Amino acid sequence: MGKPINLFSLKSDIIEKFKEKLVINKKIRDKLYSKNLEEVSRCPICEGSQFNPVLSLDITEYIQCKECTHVFVNKRPTLKVFKEFYSTNETYQKTYTDKKNAMLRVEQVAMPKLKWAIREFQREYERQPNSILDVGAGSGHFIHACRKMGYRANGIEISKTGCQFAKDIFDVELINQDILQCLEFQEKYDLITFWGVIEHYNYPIMLLRRATSLLNKKGMIIVEVPRWNCLSTAVQQLFSDSIIRHLDPLGHLHVFTDSSLATAFEKCNLNIVGAWYFGMDCYELILQLSNFFNAKELLKQDITREKLVPYLQEKADMVKFSDEIVLSGKLSR
Ligand SMILES: [Zn+2]
Repeated sequence: MGKPINLFSLKSDIIEKFKEKLVINKKIRDKLYSKNLEEVSRCPICEGSQFNPVLSLDITEYIQCKECTHVFVNKRPTLKVFKEFYSTNETYQKTYTDKKNAMLRVEQVAMPKLKWAIREFQREYERQPNSILDVGAGSGHFIHACRKMGYRANGIEISKTGCQFAKDIFDVELINQDILQCLEFQEKYDLITFWGVIEHYNYPIMLLRRATSLLNKKGMIIVEVPRWNCLSTAVQQLFSDSIIRHLDPLGHLHVFTDSSLATAFEKCNLNIVGAWYFGMDCYELILQLSNFFNAKELLKQDITREKLVPYLQEKADMVKFSDEIVLSGKLSR
């Protein structure tokens, strides 16, 4: 449980530009959701057909499967629309492509994830992974971290902007393709990672199945997703007009529960071997409060940044009330 991180060092611009970002995100979201929405009649994880509404937003809603408890967007743009969006949109990638923050992001975000992944792998197999594939590699931060630590690693990413950034900043050549269509793989991998990827995709099970087909028998898949049962969810249910992350249907078509993610693993013949809980819940709480009361000062105080947020987050993580989960899994025999 838990991941020490100075969120404010990474997100300093977001605090200043929160209101601006609200407007930008709304514009992109409204456009994406303006036409040809598909209604989801079966749970994308367990194929159940009974749901409860859990969060109503201006353009769509999140519903929850009564069977596996998975939460997902009910009326959503089609896969074709999202693929076009992710491969060409530049604004959306911007959070991750800020040159100034790139190295900080490698140290604070990518490295701890890599170290966790390696520990998981070593515990299960008593050796180092020989090859790593990062799916939805974004701007290459994780691949850069892998190579810096001496691992052989490839990344695949559909965003052209992301691939360009990876090349410019890290001199990392990502495969600019869709993993479901890419036939270039020459080998199978020891470790395949999805850091905040499958929740963006209309059919998450398809992505995981594809990954298992590229995995060595003695390999490991690691998946990070947003979690439903957490403080961020509770906060955003109160402030649903000012959402730019977590329960944002622009990016997150799916919000998993531990049970729905476990169901997804099981359907893909993956045995769960490890779990990691952490989040940005208290950051979210402070951000929403300061936005609502127009109290930017709250975010600038050292006591907020260095004491309040990390301390409360640690408490939330300890009782699994945090907004992210990472699971590691091995192929079942
Ligand atoms: Zn379900």
